[in-house]
Amino acid sequence: MNLTELKTTIARHRDDFPILSTTVNGQPLVYLDNGASTQRPLQVIEAERHYALTTHANVHRGVHTLSQRATDAYEGARERVRRFLNARSTREIIFTKGTTEAINLIAQTFGRQLKPNDEILISHLEHHANIVPWQMLAESHGVVLKVIPMNERGELDLEQAQALITERTRLVAVTMISNALGTIVPVEALIALAKARDIPVLLDAAQAVAHQPIDVTQLDCDFLCFSGHKLYGPDGIGVLYGKAERLERLPPWQGGGDMILSVSFAKTVYNELPYRFEAGTPHMSGAVGLAAAIDYVERVGFATITAWEQHLLTQATQRLSAIDGVRIIGTAARKASLISFVVNGIHAHDLGTILNDSGVAIRTGHHCAQPAVEFFKLPATARASFAFYNTDAEIDALARALDSAIALFK
Ligand code: PMP
Repeated sequence: MNLTELKTTIARHRDDFPILSTTVNGQPLVYLDNGASTQRPLQVIEAERHYALTTHANVHRGVHTLSQRATDAYEGARERVRRFLNARSTREIIFTKGTTEAINLIAQTFGRQLKPNDEILISHLEHHANIVPWQMLAESHGVVLKVIPMNERGELDLEQAQALITERTRLVAVTMISNALGTIVPVEALIALAKARDIPVLLDAAQAVAHQPIDVTQLDCDFLCFSGHKLYGPDGIGVLYGKAERLERLPPWQGGGDMILSVSFAKTVYNELPYRFEAGTPHMSGAVGLAAAIDYVERVGFATITAWEQHLLTQATQRLSAIDGVRIIGTAARKASLISFVVNGIHAHDLGTILNDSGVAIRTGHHCAQPAVEFFKLPATARASFAFYNTDAEIDALARALDSAIALFK
Protein backbone atom coordinates (compact mmCIF):
# COMPACT_ATOMS: atom_id res chain seq x y z
CA MET A 1 0.00 0.00 0.00
CA ASN A 2 1.41 3.43 -0.89
CA LEU A 3 1.07 6.41 1.44
CA THR A 4 -2.09 7.78 -0.21
CA GLU A 5 -3.83 4.40 -0.02
CA LEU A 6 -2.68 4.04 3.57
CA LYS A 7 -4.16 7.44 4.45
CA THR A 8 -7.51 6.52 2.90
CA THR A 9 -7.58 3.20 4.76
CA ILE A 10 -6.74 4.88 8.07
CA ALA A 11 -9.41 7.57 7.54
CA ARG A 12 -12.00 4.83 7.01
CA HIS A 13 -11.03 2.99 10.20
CA ARG A 14 -10.90 6.22 12.19
CA ASP A 15 -14.65 6.60 11.65
CA ASP A 16 -15.12 3.53 13.87
CA PHE A 17 -14.02 5.64 16.87
CA PRO A 18 -16.75 8.25 17.54
CA ILE A 19 -14.96 9.60 20.61
CA LEU A 20 -12.19 10.92 18.33
CA SER A 21 -14.70 13.40 16.86
CA THR A 22 -15.49 15.08 20.16
CA THR A 23 -14.26 18.52 21.13
CA VAL A 24 -12.27 19.47 24.21
CA ASN A 25 -12.13 23.08 25.36
CA GLY A 26 -13.87 24.07 22.14
CA GLN A 27 -11.17 22.44 20.00
CA PRO A 28 -11.24 19.14 18.13
CA LEU A 29 -9.82 16.44 20.39
CA VAL A 30 -6.29 15.37 19.44
CA TYR A 31 -5.86 12.16 21.39
CA LEU A 32 -2.17 11.34 21.83
CA ASP A 33 -2.31 9.35 25.07
CA ASN A 34 -2.69 5.94 23.52
CA GLY A 35 0.24 4.51 25.47
CA ALA A 36 -1.93 4.92 28.58
CA SER A 37 -5.21 3.71 27.06
CA THR A 38 -6.44 3.38 23.50
CA GLN A 39 -10.02 4.23 22.50
CA ARG A 40 -12.64 1.61 21.66
CA PRO A 41 -14.18 1.18 18.22
CA LEU A 42 -17.93 0.77 17.73
CA GLN A 43 -17.39 -2.93 17.02
CA VAL A 44 -16.06 -3.49 20.56
CA ILE A 45 -18.78 -1.36 22.16
CA GLU A 46 -21.39 -3.27 20.16
CA ALA A 47 -19.95 -6.67 21.18
CA GLU A 48 -20.16 -5.71 24.87
CA ARG A 49 -23.70 -4.38 24.37
CA HIS A 50 -24.79 -7.51 22.53
CA TYR A 51 -23.37 -9.65 25.33
CA ALA A 52 -25.31 -7.65 27.95
CA LEU A 53 -28.52 -7.74 25.92
CA THR A 54 -28.52 -11.39 24.90
CA THR A 55 -26.02 -13.51 26.77
CA HIS A 56 -25.12 -12.37 30.27
CA ALA A 57 -25.23 -14.79 33.21
CA ASN A 58 -22.57 -16.32 35.44
CA VAL A 59 -20.21 -18.68 33.61
CA HIS A 60 -19.30 -22.31 34.34
CA ARG A 61 -22.04 -22.77 36.92
CA GLY A 62 -25.52 -22.94 35.54
CA VAL A 63 -27.23 -25.57 33.42
CA HIS A 64 -29.63 -22.92 32.17
CA THR A 65 -29.36 -21.52 28.68
CA LEU A 66 -27.98 -18.09 29.46
CA SER A 67 -25.22 -19.49 31.66
CA GLN A 68 -24.27 -21.86 28.86
CA ARG A 69 -24.30 -19.00 26.35
CA ALA A 70 -22.16 -16.86 28.63
CA THR A 71 -19.74 -19.75 29.13
CA ASP A 72 -19.51 -20.26 25.37
CA ALA A 73 -18.84 -16.55 24.87
CA TYR A 74 -16.22 -16.43 27.63
CA GLU A 75 -14.44 -19.59 26.51
CA GLY A 76 -14.75 -18.45 22.90
CA ALA A 77 -12.88 -15.31 23.91
CA ARG A 78 -10.16 -17.44 25.46
CA GLU A 79 -9.80 -19.35 22.19
CA ARG A 80 -9.65 -16.03 20.32
CA VAL A 81 -6.79 -14.87 22.54
CA ARG A 82 -5.02 -18.21 22.04
CA ARG A 83 -5.15 -17.78 18.29
CA PHE A 84 -4.04 -14.16 18.53
CA LEU A 85 -0.92 -15.12 20.48
CA ASN A 86 -0.46 -18.46 18.67
CA ALA A 87 -0.38 -20.30 21.98
CA ARG A 88 -0.62 -24.09 21.82
CA SER A 89 -3.63 -24.47 24.08
CA THR A 90 -6.38 -22.48 25.79
CA ARG A 91 -5.04 -24.01 29.03
CA GLU A 92 -2.21 -21.51 28.63
CA ILE A 93 -4.49 -18.43 28.54
CA ILE A 94 -5.48 -16.95 31.89
CA PHE A 95 -7.74 -13.92 32.10
CA THR A 96 -6.59 -11.29 34.59
CA LYS A 97 -7.49 -7.68 35.36
CA GLY A 98 -4.56 -6.58 33.24
CA THR A 99 -0.79 -6.62 32.92
CA THR A 100 -0.20 -5.58 36.53
CA GLU A 101 -2.28 -8.41 37.92
CA ALA A 102 -0.65 -10.90 35.55
CA ILE A 103 2.86 -9.99 36.74
CA ASN A 104 1.75 -10.10 40.36
CA LEU A 105 0.26 -13.55 39.75
CA ILE A 106 3.66 -14.82 38.58
CA ALA A 107 5.48 -13.04 41.42
CA GLN A 108 3.13 -14.59 43.99
CA THR A 109 3.28 -18.12 42.58
CA PHE A 110 6.51 -18.72 40.67
CA GLY A 111 8.25 -16.08 42.78
CA ARG A 112 7.25 -17.61 46.09
CA GLN A 113 8.95 -20.86 45.12
CA LEU A 114 12.28 -19.02 44.96
CA LYS A 115 14.95 -19.15 47.65
CA PRO A 116 17.00 -16.37 49.27
CA ASN A 117 19.70 -15.06 46.90
CA ASP A 118 17.94 -16.42 43.82
CA GLU A 119 18.08 -13.68 41.19
CA ILE A 120 15.52 -12.02 38.96
CA LEU A 121 16.79 -9.97 36.05
CA ILE A 122 14.76 -7.00 34.84
CA SER A 123 15.81 -3.89 32.88
CA HIS A 124 16.20 -0.18 33.49
CA LEU A 125 13.26 0.43 31.14
CA GLU A 126 10.60 -1.35 33.18
CA HIS A 127 7.21 0.00 34.16
CA HIS A 128 6.61 -0.06 37.93
CA ALA A 129 4.35 -3.08 37.33
CA ASN A 130 7.48 -5.06 36.43
CA ILE A 131 9.61 -3.69 39.27
CA VAL A 132 7.54 -3.44 42.43
CA PRO A 133 6.14 -7.03 42.53
CA TRP A 134 9.76 -8.30 42.41
CA GLN A 135 10.87 -5.84 45.08
CA MET A 136 8.08 -7.13 47.30
CA LEU A 137 9.44 -10.61 46.71
CA ALA A 138 12.93 -9.40 47.57
CA GLU A 139 11.54 -8.20 50.91
CA SER A 140 9.54 -11.33 51.67
CA HIS A 141 11.81 -14.04 50.22
CA GLY A 142 15.29 -12.54 50.03
CA VAL A 143 15.29 -12.69 46.24
CA VAL A 144 17.86 -10.40 44.56
CA LEU A 145 16.77 -8.02 41.82
CA LYS A 146 19.30 -7.23 39.09
CA VAL A 147 18.88 -4.59 36.41
CA ILE A 148 20.10 -4.59 32.78
CA PRO A 149 21.50 -1.08 32.22
CA MET A 150 20.70 1.19 29.27
CA ASN A 151 22.60 3.79 27.28
CA GLU A 152 21.87 7.49 26.63
CA ARG A 153 19.56 6.57 23.73
CA GLY A 154 17.45 4.34 25.97
CA GLU A 155 18.72 1.05 24.50
CA LEU A 156 19.53 -1.92 26.69
CA ASP A 157 23.12 -3.13 26.93
CA LEU A 158 23.00 -6.75 25.77
CA GLU A 159 26.61 -7.48 26.75
CA GLN A 160 25.79 -6.40 30.28
CA ALA A 161 22.63 -8.49 30.14
CA GLN A 162 24.71 -11.55 29.35
CA ALA A 163 27.15 -10.73 32.15
CA LEU A 164 24.28 -10.29 34.61
CA ILE A 165 22.87 -13.76 33.95
CA THR A 166 24.39 -16.09 36.54
CA GLU A 167 23.81 -19.62 37.82
CA ARG A 168 21.44 -18.04 40.37
CA THR A 169 19.21 -16.31 37.79
CA ARG A 170 15.73 -17.80 38.02
CA LEU A 171 13.74 -15.45 35.77
CA VAL A 172 14.32 -12.77 33.15
CA ALA A 173 11.36 -10.33 33.14
CA VAL A 174 11.49 -7.53 30.57
CA THR A 175 9.22 -5.22 28.66
CA MET A 176 8.92 -5.57 24.87
CA ILE A 177 8.47 -1.82 24.39
CA SER A 178 9.27 0.94 26.88
CA ASN A 179 6.21 3.00 27.75
CA ALA A 180 8.41 5.92 28.82
CA LEU A 181 10.84 6.10 25.87
CA GLY A 182 9.34 4.01 23.07
CA THR A 183 12.39 1.73 22.80
CA ILE A 184 11.66 -1.58 21.11
CA VAL A 185 13.60 -4.08 23.22
CA PRO A 186 15.37 -6.89 21.31
CA VAL A 187 13.58 -9.53 23.33
CA GLU A 188 14.54 -12.28 20.88
CA ALA A 189 18.21 -11.77 21.80
CA LEU A 190 17.40 -11.68 25.52
CA ILE A 191 15.34 -14.86 25.22
CA ALA A 192 18.25 -16.57 23.44
CA LEU A 193 20.61 -15.56 26.28
CA ALA A 194 18.18 -16.85 28.90
CA LYS A 195 17.40 -20.09 27.04
CA ALA A 196 21.11 -20.89 26.76
CA ARG A 197 20.95 -21.25 30.58
CA ASP A 198 17.43 -22.72 30.65
CA ILE A 199 16.06 -19.66 32.45
CA PRO A 200 12.37 -18.78 31.97
CA VAL A 201 11.45 -15.43 30.44
CA LEU A 202 8.45 -13.21 31.20
CA LEU A 203 7.58 -10.58 28.60
CA ASP A 204 5.57 -7.48 29.46
CA ALA A 205 3.68 -6.92 26.20
CA ALA A 206 1.48 -4.09 27.55
CA GLN A 207 2.92 -1.58 25.07
CA ALA A 208 3.74 -4.03 22.30
CA VAL A 209 0.39 -5.73 21.84
CA ALA A 210 -1.27 -2.96 19.82
CA HIS A 211 1.71 -2.31 17.57
CA GLN A 212 3.06 -5.64 16.36
CA PRO A 213 1.95 -9.25 15.95
CA ILE A 214 2.98 -11.47 18.87
CA ASP A 215 3.67 -15.17 18.46
CA VAL A 216 4.48 -16.79 21.80
CA THR A 217 5.40 -20.09 20.17
CA GLN A 218 7.90 -18.46 17.86
CA LEU A 219 9.25 -16.21 20.63
CA ASP A 220 9.48 -19.23 22.94
CA CYS A 221 8.83 -17.05 25.98
CA ASP A 222 7.51 -18.73 29.13
CA PHE A 223 5.11 -16.01 30.29
CA LEU A 224 3.65 -12.98 28.51
CA CYS A 225 1.05 -10.47 29.60
CA PHE A 226 -0.97 -7.58 28.24
CA SER A 227 -4.01 -5.39 28.99
CA GLY A 228 -7.22 -5.02 26.97
CA HIS A 229 -7.40 -1.24 27.38
CA LYS A 230 -4.18 -0.75 25.40
CA LEU A 231 -5.49 -2.91 22.54
CA TYR A 232 -8.66 -0.96 21.65
CA GLY A 233 -10.53 -3.17 24.11
CA PRO A 234 -12.16 -2.79 27.53
CA ASP A 235 -10.41 -1.92 30.76
CA GLY A 236 -10.37 -4.36 33.67
CA ILE A 237 -9.43 -7.31 31.46
CA GLY A 238 -6.03 -8.62 30.50
CA VAL A 239 -4.19 -11.82 29.77
CA LEU A 240 -1.44 -13.91 31.23
CA TYR A 241 -0.03 -16.44 28.80
CA GLY A 242 2.07 -19.17 30.39
CA LYS A 243 3.55 -22.33 28.94
CA ALA A 244 1.41 -25.19 30.24
CA GLU A 245 4.40 -27.08 31.64
CA ARG A 246 5.35 -23.96 33.63
CA LEU A 247 1.86 -23.15 34.87
CA GLU A 248 1.28 -26.76 35.93
CA ARG A 249 4.15 -26.50 38.38
CA LEU A 250 2.83 -23.33 40.04
CA PRO A 251 0.78 -23.28 43.23
CA PRO A 252 -2.61 -21.61 43.07
CA TRP A 253 -2.75 -17.89 43.77
CA GLN A 254 -6.11 -16.54 44.91
CA GLY A 255 -8.55 -19.03 46.41
CA GLY A 256 -12.29 -19.14 45.85
CA GLY A 257 -14.96 -20.34 43.46
CA ASP A 258 -14.07 -21.77 40.03
CA MET A 259 -10.43 -22.49 40.95
CA ILE A 260 -11.38 -25.72 42.75
CA LEU A 261 -12.64 -29.18 41.77
CA SER A 262 -13.90 -30.06 45.24
CA VAL A 263 -13.84 -28.49 48.67
CA SER A 264 -14.26 -30.03 52.08
CA PHE A 265 -13.04 -28.77 55.42
CA ALA A 266 -10.45 -31.54 55.35
CA LYS A 267 -9.14 -31.05 51.83
CA THR A 268 -9.56 -28.96 48.73
CA VAL A 269 -8.65 -30.22 45.26
CA TYR A 270 -7.63 -27.48 42.86
CA ASN A 271 -9.01 -27.16 39.36
CA GLU A 272 -7.23 -27.73 36.05
CA LEU A 273 -5.53 -25.04 34.00
CA PRO A 274 -6.47 -22.33 33.28
CA TYR A 275 -9.30 -22.17 35.87
CA ARG A 276 -6.91 -22.83 38.73
CA PHE A 277 -5.74 -19.24 38.33
CA GLU A 278 -9.15 -17.63 37.86
CA ALA A 279 -10.75 -17.52 41.30
CA GLY A 280 -14.21 -15.97 41.51
CA THR A 281 -16.52 -14.64 38.84
CA PRO A 282 -14.36 -13.36 35.97
CA HIS A 283 -14.84 -10.23 33.86
CA MET A 284 -17.05 -11.99 31.30
CA SER A 285 -18.18 -8.97 29.28
CA GLY A 286 -14.57 -7.76 29.33
CA ALA A 287 -13.36 -11.00 27.78
CA VAL A 288 -16.05 -10.72 25.07
CA GLY A 289 -15.00 -7.12 24.39
CA LEU A 290 -11.35 -8.12 24.26
CA ALA A 291 -12.10 -10.82 21.70
CA ALA A 292 -13.95 -8.23 19.60
CA ALA A 293 -10.96 -5.88 19.89
CA ILE A 294 -8.65 -8.64 18.66
CA ASP A 295 -11.01 -9.32 15.73
CA TYR A 296 -10.97 -5.61 14.96
CA VAL A 297 -7.20 -5.16 15.14
CA GLU A 298 -6.60 -8.20 12.95
CA ARG A 299 -9.12 -6.90 10.42
CA VAL A 300 -7.22 -3.60 10.22
CA GLY A 301 -4.06 -5.73 10.03
CA PHE A 302 -0.66 -5.27 11.62
CA ALA A 303 0.91 -4.58 8.22
CA THR A 304 -1.27 -1.44 7.94
CA ILE A 305 -0.86 -0.55 11.60
CA THR A 306 2.94 -0.75 11.68
CA ALA A 307 3.36 1.02 8.33
CA TRP A 308 1.17 3.94 9.37
CA GLU A 309 2.51 4.20 12.91
CA GLN A 310 6.10 4.27 11.68
CA HIS A 311 5.07 7.05 9.30
CA LEU A 312 3.56 8.97 12.25
CA LEU A 313 6.70 8.40 14.34
CA THR A 314 8.97 9.72 11.58
CA GLN A 315 6.75 12.74 10.92
CA ALA A 316 6.36 13.62 14.60
CA THR A 317 10.07 13.15 15.32
CA GLN A 318 10.93 15.52 12.46
CA ARG A 319 8.36 18.11 13.50
CA LEU A 320 9.27 18.09 17.19
CA SER A 321 13.04 18.09 16.53
CA ALA A 322 12.63 21.22 14.40
CA ILE A 323 11.08 23.20 17.27
CA ASP A 324 13.62 25.30 19.15
CA GLY A 325 13.79 24.25 22.80
CA VAL A 326 12.29 20.77 22.35
CA ARG A 327 14.49 17.81 23.28
CA ILE A 328 13.41 14.25 22.55
CA ILE A 329 14.15 11.81 25.37
CA GLY A 330 14.75 8.30 24.10
CA THR A 331 16.33 8.04 20.69
CA ALA A 332 16.74 4.29 20.24
CA ALA A 333 17.38 3.00 16.73
CA ARG A 334 14.18 0.93 16.95
CA LYS A 335 11.24 2.78 18.42
CA ALA A 336 7.50 2.34 18.60
CA SER A 337 5.17 5.25 17.84
CA LEU A 338 5.73 7.08 21.09
CA ILE A 339 7.80 10.22 21.75
CA SER A 340 8.90 11.47 25.16
CA PHE A 341 10.20 15.03 25.19
CA VAL A 342 10.98 18.04 27.34
CA VAL A 343 10.78 21.74 26.50
CA ASN A 344 13.35 24.20 27.85
CA GLY A 345 11.98 26.30 30.67
CA ILE A 346 8.50 24.68 30.79
CA HIS A 347 7.68 21.99 33.30
CA ALA A 348 6.11 18.96 31.65
CA HIS A 349 2.94 19.30 33.75
CA ASP A 350 2.47 22.95 32.71
CA LEU A 351 3.00 21.91 29.12
CA GLY A 352 0.36 19.19 29.42
CA THR A 353 -2.12 21.68 30.85
CA ILE A 354 -1.49 24.26 28.13
CA LEU A 355 -1.78 21.64 25.39
CA ASN A 356 -5.07 20.48 26.88
CA ASP A 357 -6.40 24.03 26.37
CA SER A 358 -5.88 23.36 22.65
CA GLY A 359 -7.63 19.99 22.84
CA VAL A 360 -4.35 18.08 22.66
CA ALA A 361 -4.19 15.15 25.11
CA ILE A 362 -0.68 14.06 26.01
CA ARG A 363 0.69 12.44 29.16
CA THR A 364 3.14 14.09 31.50
CA GLY A 365 5.08 12.73 34.47
CA HIS A 366 7.31 9.74 35.05
CA HIS A 367 4.88 7.42 33.24
CA CYS A 368 5.09 4.82 36.05
CA ALA A 369 8.64 4.18 34.91
CA GLN A 370 10.47 6.48 37.28
CA PRO A 371 13.93 4.85 36.94
CA ALA A 372 13.83 5.20 33.13
CA VAL A 373 12.96 8.91 33.33
CA GLU A 374 15.32 9.70 36.22
CA PHE A 375 18.16 8.14 34.23
CA PHE A 376 18.01 11.34 32.17
CA LYS A 377 18.09 13.41 35.39
CA LEU A 378 14.53 14.49 34.77
CA PRO A 379 11.56 14.40 37.13
CA ALA A 380 9.09 14.20 34.25
CA THR A 381 8.68 14.23 30.50
CA ALA A 382 5.81 15.00 28.15
CA ARG A 383 4.76 12.00 26.07
CA ALA A 384 2.85 11.83 22.83
CA SER A 385 1.88 8.25 22.02
CA PHE A 386 0.25 7.42 18.71
CA ALA A 387 -2.29 4.82 17.66
CA PHE A 388 -3.03 3.77 14.09
CA TYR A 389 -6.03 6.15 14.02
CA ASN A 390 -3.92 9.27 14.51
CA THR A 391 -3.32 11.54 11.54
CA ASP A 392 -0.77 13.93 10.06
CA ALA A 393 -3.14 16.77 10.89
CA GLU A 394 -2.96 15.78 14.56
CA ILE A 395 0.84 15.96 14.47
CA ASP A 396 0.44 19.47 13.00
CA ALA A 397 -1.92 20.34 15.86
CA LEU A 398 0.61 19.04 18.41
CA ALA A 399 3.43 21.07 16.83
CA ARG A 400 1.27 24.22 16.67
CA ALA A 401 0.20 23.83 20.31
CA LEU A 402 3.87 23.42 21.30
CA ASP A 403 4.82 26.56 19.36
CA SER A 404 2.12 28.52 21.19
CA ALA A 405 3.15 27.16 24.60
CA ILE A 406 6.77 28.13 23.97
CA ALA A 407 5.69 31.63 22.80
CA LEU A 408 3.64 32.00 25.99
CA PHE A 409 6.65 31.30 28.21
CA LYS A 410 9.05 33.64 26.32
N1 PMP B 1 3.79 -2.40 31.60
C1 PMP B 1 3.87 -1.42 30.69
C2 PMP B 1 5.04 -1.38 29.76
C3 PMP B 1 2.86 -0.46 30.63
O1 PMP B 1 2.94 0.54 29.73
C4 PMP B 1 1.76 -0.54 31.51
C5 PMP B 1 0.64 0.50 31.48
N2 PMP B 1 1.08 1.80 31.40
C6 PMP B 1 1.73 -1.60 32.42
C7 PMP B 1 2.75 -2.51 32.43
C8 PMP B 1 0.59 -1.76 33.39
O2 PMP B 1 -0.59 -2.05 32.71
P1 PMP B 1 -2.00 -2.05 33.47
O3 PMP B 1 -2.07 -0.73 34.20
O4 PMP B 1 -3.00 -2.17 32.39
O5 PMP B 1 -1.98 -3.21 34.41
